[in-house]
Amino acid sequence: MIKVGILGANGRMGRVLIEAVHGHVNTELGFASVRESSSFIGVDAGELAGIAKQQVMVSALSDEVVKTADVLIDFTLPEALEQNLQLALAANKPIVIGTTGLTGEQLNFIDEAAKSIPVVFAANYSVGINLMLNLVQHAASVMGDDADIEIIEGHHRFKKDAPSGTAMAIGHAIANTLGRDLSKCAIYGREGLSGERSPETIGFATVRAGDIVGDHTALFATLGERLEITHKASSRLTFAKGALTAACWLKEQNKGLYSMQDVLGLV
Ligand code: NAP
Repeated sequence: MIKVGILGANGRMGRVLIEAVHGHVNTELGFASVRESSSFIGVDAGELAGIAKQQVMVSALSDEVVKTADVLIDFTLPEALEQNLQLALAANKPIVIGTTGLTGEQLNFIDEAAKSIPVVFAANYSVGINLMLNLVQHAASVMGDDADIEIIEGHHRFKKDAPSGTAMAIGHAIANTLGRDLSKCAIYGREGLSGERSPETIGFATVRAGDIVGDHTALFATLGERLEITHKASSRLTFAKGALTAACWLKEQNKGLYSMQDVLGLV
């Protein structure tokens, strides 16, 4: 059994990760950690997740706690990333990172950490989205030079970053296929007299509403037809199960930076 340590255990993803570990045949809960100031410290992790007691108490994140797991899973917020990576490095533990909305500097922390420990970093841990990343590259290679390309994403009202990390990953996959630099060709929303569309641009549109778990569409439109490739996540468990697949895979890997596509053998 692989002992999984969950960082940010009280978050939406943290709670679902506890539930996923409970239902997974090859993993068990090493620890479930929260901030030092959290009122959840000492609560049974199962109760926090709304399932049966797990006999693992929620703890404050520390060097000692991190040592009790084989693999760490971090779905928190960007401001927690550096500390979480430092703890993983100090304990020499592999880490699966799902946090999105990271700055260039934070992405560099991940690159640096991966020189010493195994790291999986993915904006989306669902099988369907990782397959979609391949499908949009195929569509871009066939239609991309003629089609207007737009990426439309929707998430719940609480999501903090936009466009989603997954929408950006889809944009990068398409731009790389077409030899475009996304930082130069991306258009984030339009307003007023925005003018005619430039053919080389890739547009992003963001919806934030209710409890949408995660919808993504890549649209390739010419003057005679439209191709839409759409993925809809209906439960956060799909991300949590994918993260556990990544954790089990990562335990057997050497230091380095890996994607979910590496985990699933899609590259
Ligand atoms: P959430 O409910 O807001 O939970 C965030 C967690 O991070 C909470 O436990 C929070 O603790 C903790 N946290 C935030 N700032 C911290 C800090 N400075 N130090 C320590 N802990 C801190 O968010 P969520 O919906 O679970 O999503 C978490 C992340 O995963 C987001 O970036 C989201 O976009 C991403 N995500 C990725 C995937 C994927 O497949 N890659 C899927 C879904 C979500 P407090 O409550 O104490 O603040």
